[in-house]
Amino acid sequence: MAIERTLSIIKPDATKRNLTGKINAKFEEAGLTIVAQKRIQLSKAQAGTFYAVHKERPFYDELCEFMASAPVVVQVLEGEGAIAKNREVMGATNPADAEPGTIRAEFAESVGENSVHGSDAPETAAEEIAFFFAGLEIVG
Ligand code: ATP
Ligand code: MG
Repeated sequence: MAIERTLSIIKPDATKRNLTGKINAKFEEAGLTIVAQKRIQLSKAQAGTFYAVHKERPFYDELCEFMASAPVVVQVLEGEGAIAKNREVMGATNPADAEPGTIRAEFAESVGENSVHGSDAPETAAEEIAFFFAGLEIVG
């Protein structure tokens, strides 16, 4: 399988509970390497642009408010099949459906406040990485 890069976000519910280190440990234990990382505060407008694909969904406004409610940690994860592997480590969107041992099973508070975001395909990974990082900030 090819070496890929994917965009990960540790969401406000997790940064507020000081879970950055525990979540990063899950990525590293799964063989993913954190090749870029920064803690930032999104505005509601920036969150809205990032999640524009969901703008017709009923939870869009709530999602944008939440993503701007506290700092997030944005990161690029690299490894073999990193896009799918990251989503495996994250677990299902709704923590009630997430496999035991996944980040969302262990840490998520609800379907909305679910601790992490991960890109879902090579095209979105490339777009989402470019949304947050310049090439020089990614050190593999
Ligand atoms: P993400 O894109 O954040 O990695 P995902 O791909 O598992 O999550 P999506 O369907 O893309 O899930 O939804 C994006 C985000 O919108 C979810 O992670 C969650 O924070 C929020 N969300 C999804 N469904 C709901 C819902 N029914 N109610 C509230 N918020 C939701
Ligand atoms: Mg998604």
